[in-house]
Amino acid sequence: MPEIETTGLDFIREIVTADKAAGRRAGRVHTRFPPEPNGYLHIGHAKSICLNFGIAHEYGGLCNLRMDDTNPETEDVEFVRAIEQDVRWLGFDWEDRSCYASDYFERLYECAVTLVRKGLAYVDDLQGDEVSRYRGRWDEPGRDSPYRDRSVEENLDLFARMRAGEFEDGARTLRAKIDMAAPNMNMRDPTIYRIRRSPHYRQGDDWIIYPTYDFTHPLSDAFERITHSLCTLEFEDHRPLYDWYLQALDFEDPPRQIEFARLNLTHTVLSKRKLLELVEGKHVDGWDDPRMPTLAGMRRRGYPPAAIRDFCGRIGVAKANSVVQMAQLEDAVRQELNRTAPRVMAVTLPLKVVIENYPEDRVEELDAINNPEDPSAGTRKVPFSRELYIENADFQENPPRKFFRLAPGREVRLRYAYFLTCRDVVKDGAGNVVELRCTYDPETRGGYAPDGRKVRGTIHWVSARHALPARVRLYEHLFSVEHPEDVPEGTDYKDGLQKFETLERSRVEPSLAGAVPGAVYQFERRGYFCVDPDSRSALPVFNRTVGLRDTWAKIAKKQGKQ
Ligand code: ATP
Ligand code: MG
Repeated sequence: MPEIETTGLDFIREIVTADKAAGRRAGRVHTRFPPEPNGYLHIGHAKSICLNFGIAHEYGGLCNLRMDDTNPETEDVEFVRAIEQDVRWLGFDWEDRSCYASDYFERLYECAVTLVRKGLAYVDDLQGDEVSRYRGRWDEPGRDSPYRDRSVEENLDLFARMRAGEFEDGARTLRAKIDMAAPNMNMRDPTIYRIRRSPHYRQGDDWIIYPTYDFTHPLSDAFERITHSLCTLEFEDHRPLYDWYLQALDFEDPPRQIEFARLNLTHTVLSKRKLLELVEGKHVDGWDDPRMPTLAGMRRRGYPPAAIRDFCGRIGVAKANSVVQMAQLEDAVRQELNRTAPRVMAVTLPLKVVIENYPEDRVEELDAINNPEDPSAGTRKVPFSRELYIENADFQENPPRKFFRLAPGREVRLRYAYFLTCRDVVKDGAGNVVELRCTYDPETRGGYAPDGRKVRGTIHWVSARHALPARVRLYEHLFSVEHPEDVPEGTDYKDGLQKFETLERSRVEPSLAGAVPGAVYQFERRGYFCVDPDSRSALPVFNRTVGLRDTWAKIAKKQGKQ
């Protein structure tokens, strides 16, 4: 048996490599990312963006950003601007190749006229429901429309009058004349133009007939001299039609459509329709709600673009649909932030500590390491004083086994500071612990005892007098269940939406004064947190980006990967 050459390339890159080697389309590589401006981009789009811009870059080619904007009802310039911002944020540059399918309306119209002239398209008077009845079913051939054999002259005249506005919306369509008995339903005389009196966000009232996606897409690709048109699997059955239009219109060196599996992720939804529903129904705080799978949401949550690119590279491209664990995306985020995010101390649910043997008026500036993964990040000073806050969860009056943090009579290490022993507990009238009376060992500055004495726990803290108040939002996944769309008949997938907790009384170390929105920090022992644009200088707001717990490593271990 001959040796199979494994190049390590995915199937799309294998095709592009082979095309380039064979000199097809003059050896050029030109891709495009074609979003419809009817919503914000999500992580699924990121996969397509990384693929299209990535391939162009790797093969010395170009990638266009094209608004696939032929559907006047749902599109808007707000979405165009958001899409541009998100693609740029992800780290890609389309230079001057900002394209709009709607800019091709005149050329598309001319192409349609050419098809009519060639006897390859006709004006049909059948109405919507009649059209579907004539189309037949997958297991039953369709029937020719009674208007199918109109003369070229009559078709030209009627099509021109469709454009001129002589007929009601939906009264007539222009259809390709292919084969009403074709086993592929897409080839049963598909619609090319519809009458729709709806203003277009860029073309205004210039047009009342609009071309269909299936007609517009191959021609836009051809106009832009795209070489490889990458799309998701559901368009596989449309490829014969894609090729048919390009051939019927005699395009030389036509682009090649290649389909790949779309990205699905657990614990979220990636359908634009559902995302729009969540936004419009105010079930979330807009397109950039930090729980949303949109790029705007992920930005606000603190996901670094490098982590998203890395994730898209790791999941690769394949021909088979699958669902990727959200934990895998979070793992990529965690890895990137572990390298880059400065460490700080923040107490999310504070419990007051008074160090009885520490002088009232003393303040020490202690050295803290900014990022142990990155020595070049240096150190900073953190103030220490008699009254501190520690994390409420770091104290238990009756500690269970293996709880190594603070408890009555127990000694722990305060990170970067001293050993601390809890001497007494102060309670309110309801019996809640509201304050701990403690002592420290002045000999243990820096966190080590000269006598070699060990402690089992190290906890973080902030100086009560110096800390800044902050609000912390503890985001979870958008949905608690893995597959939110798999709900029993009669129930609403939106019932599975997760709320999140907001902590109003958090305290963060004073070095965070003036932290800018978008900056991400590791709150030591708590996870990664991003400064939200809602922040005010007196009250910064932090969004939990991702916890420290490495769920993915556990899953991967279980699955025998990594
Ligand atoms: P619509 O239902 O509105 O068509 P869409 O998700 O296809 O939604 P588009 O704006 O048309 O949205 O998508 C732009 C590009 O992104 C297309 O090439 C599409 O194939 C790709 N894309 C969309 N969703 C995903 C996904 N989940 N995974 C990979 N690629 C995707
Ligand atoms: Mg689409």
